[in-house]
Amino acid sequence: MRRKLVVGNWKMHGSRPANAELLAAILGARPFQGDVAVCVPFPYLAETAATLAGSDVRWGGQDCSAHDQGAYTGEVSAGMLAECGCRYVIVGHSERRAYHAETDALVAAKAQAALAKGVTPIVCVGETLAQREAGETEAVVKRQLSAVIHQLAHCAGEMVVAYEPVWAIGTGRTATPEQAQHVHAVLRAQLHAATGHGDKMRILYGGSVKADNAATLFAQPDIDGGLIGGAALKAADFIAICRAAR
Ligand code: PEP
Repeated sequence: MRRKLVVGNWKMHGSRPANAELLAAILGARPFQGDVAVCVPFPYLAETAATLAGSDVRWGGQDCSAHDQGAYTGEVSAGMLAECGCRYVIVGHSERRAYHAETDALVAAKAQAALAKGVTPIVCVGETLAQREAGETEAVVKRQLSAVIHQLAHCAGEMVVAYEPVWAIGTGRTATPEQAQHVHAVLRAQLHAATGHGDKMRILYGGSVKADNAATLFAQPDIDGGLIGGAALKAADFIAICRAAR
């Protein structure tokens, strides 16, 4: 039985007062039946850690470097995230792939760097609208996941995967539960073939998850929770989504 997981991706949003209000609301809404985490901008990690410490709400980063340390101005290492108590780090988000030209190989190296420091990578995969319309969805997500599986080798079973169709992110256009389930089943089969325990690994769905569609998505047999962008910034919406994860 896989425990559901809901992760808020705050992206480049927030302020100290707004964060404090949001985190207080999340803490006050516990207990949740599934696991809950927030991935916050780097400058807010220490304060988030102090606020959430001792609770069952976890926190994480939205990216990490593939390098351990060195002359990489502007980058943050997985070891630094670990020092801030991060349980998770998102790698390969489509915004990083699109705006920062991140390749499958780089995403895989970041996932490996995270695991080496005990931080669980949430590896994002997903097709663009053009790729979906060209019938390439399965090939694209399998290729993206395959790069990470090969890099992680015997540790591949420790990652969390997030299926995030690019055309559904921040657009208000959600994949139907059937569309999402289909891709999740493909990814699970791939994970199972590679690790032998794909049935125990969590595959999140992300892309315009809202309070009113979360329960139907999360009821699909291979959807183990969500990676939530816009709706993670509004306490009532995020809490409703966390409650839908049972
Ligand atoms: C995301 O950025 O990971 C995401 C899923 O965004 P949204 O929920 O806003 O579509």
